[in-house]
Amino acid sequence: MENEIGNNFLRRIIRNDVESGEVTKVVTRFPPEPNGYLHIGHAKSIHVNFELAQEFSGVCHLRFDDTNPEKECQEYIDSIQEDVRWLGYEWHGEIRYASNYFEQLYEWACDLVDQGLAYVCDLSPEESREYRGTLTRPGVDSPYRNRSSSENRDLLERMRQGEFDEGSRVLRAKISMASPNINLRDPVLYRIRKHEHHQTGTSWVIYPSYDFAHGQEDAIEGITHSICTLEFEDHRPLYDWFLDHLPISNRPRQFEFGRLNTSYTITSKRKLGQLIEKNIVSGWDDPRMPTIAGMRRRGFTPNAIRKFCEMIGTTRSDGVVDVAMLEHAIRDDLNENAPRAMAVLRPIKLVLENLPETYCEEFQAPCHPNRPELGTRKISFSRELYIDEDDFREEANKKYKRLVIGKRVRLRNAYIVQANRVERDADGNISIVYADLIPDTLGSDPADGVKAKGVIHWVCAKTASRASVRLYDRLFNHPSPDKGDLNFLDFINEESIGILEEAMVEASLTQATPEQAFQFEREGYFVADRYDYSADNLVFNRVIGLRDTWQKIEEGV
Ligand code: ATP
Ligand code: MG
Repeated sequence: MENEIGNNFLRRIIRNDVESGEVTKVVTRFPPEPNGYLHIGHAKSIHVNFELAQEFSGVCHLRFDDTNPEKECQEYIDSIQEDVRWLGYEWHGEIRYASNYFEQLYEWACDLVDQGLAYVCDLSPEESREYRGTLTRPGVDSPYRNRSSSENRDLLERMRQGEFDEGSRVLRAKISMASPNINLRDPVLYRIRKHEHHQTGTSWVIYPSYDFAHGQEDAIEGITHSICTLEFEDHRPLYDWFLDHLPISNRPRQFEFGRLNTSYTITSKRKLGQLIEKNIVSGWDDPRMPTIAGMRRRGFTPNAIRKFCEMIGTTRSDGVVDVAMLEHAIRDDLNENAPRAMAVLRPIKLVLENLPETYCEEFQAPCHPNRPELGTRKISFSRELYIDEDDFREEANKKYKRLVIGKRVRLRNAYIVQANRVERDADGNISIVYADLIPDTLGSDPADGVKAKGVIHWVCAKTASRASVRLYDRLFNHPSPDKGDLNFLDFINEESIGILEEAMVEASLTQATPEQAFQFEREGYFVADRYDYSADNLVFNRVIGLRDTWQKIEEGV
């Protein structure tokens, strides 16, 4: 179909509803629990909900499903809003909270009690588990199931007043303990929790279960398409049961799609929290984390993340997407948009012996090879330069197309040079390479016809600045670090961070702004760190290399 990028079955459903007049205004929502930072899987959900609303001139709500006060906090609420906006989306109207509806939800619970459709149950949590049965064994009715409506109503009101201890009683729906769907076996509607809530303070000591809250919240907000992930498919009959038995006129319809999982990644908030507790990463926004805040600090762009979400499509099956696809989306975006610059990560000095000490020249180099509109930058050139230690060898075979004694190489954006000899430091390491500049080779071939085999990057020792460069890589060295019995903590990639404190970068990089990304020519894509970069403390993070180096590892090459 003309407008159909990716295989998005939801788009087809909504288009049908709109064209048939079934739905006049599309309303979707993104409903996070504020119990951690958002991750790449949430980005997918955000993308699905906001883009579909936009495409059909509808709106999307942001609603915090805050029914679990002990795991939630304001920091998460703030970070979630920041992340949604950073991804490029704006929710409709005010922020919404499940807790806005607590009074209404309680009234509905009373309504079910009065209809004889809910009861207060005094089984202990262990007993309840036992009574619930299993997939192959039906549940058993609770001995409290036949309490009268008036007794239930009295107990529920006293639960609300705080008369009973946590865990001593719950309110349950009275559906069927024999249902093959375990979600319908008299599910819990309210629990006693004497815990202060970030929004409602100490007003409540009972909290609705997620299942009792979620569908009704959608109904209250007039959500037309309630989009969630596949694990909620079996909850749908329960949500429908509530809507059937409560005086609610709106009827949201729920549609499920497959969760996004990427290889070499974990996305459980609980496990991500463990990485932080164990100091394996520095926090939710560590550049190696799959969180939106982490990806942002790493230098991923909202544009690339949105493209990735579009590219992988939306389907009805759970699967694992190769993380290389995400990396590819970033590389593509930065290749197109990031200005070029030269940075020498492991510098050694290159002295051009045939130039005078005072020699100084300036060139204009394009900021981007294919986009002249991005302008040019000034780079200076003098007798002393820095090149990368990997770009020089005293001897090498023909495959090595960099600088070798007696051989020529072109300095990117500048002249051809020929290496003569080296000087070593006290430890025997090469500290200086001496070379000659071949005259008249700025943008043209040498007069003697002896061409350079390769091109290397460099910076001018007089004007370059020292920078700290953090080389990030995948956090895990296993494609599915938490699959089955695997413990993700056993698969931490020890090389997921390396810090180079002595890098030398061209002068223009002192003018960067935090979060600005560059291609360091021949090295990869780097971003000025969001927090630590300043003009007198240059800190760059490696976003991603120029090529995928993991494929080779996977193929065992
Ligand atoms: P986690 O398992 O990481 O704790 P969650 O599902 O409990 O995630 P919620 O805050 O409830 O986190 O998620 C908010 C929304 O994002 C839900 O609609 C959920 O279905 C969706 N979502 C969460 N993880 C993914 C994922 N991996 N792929 C797609 N959507 C997701
Ligand atoms: Mg959840």
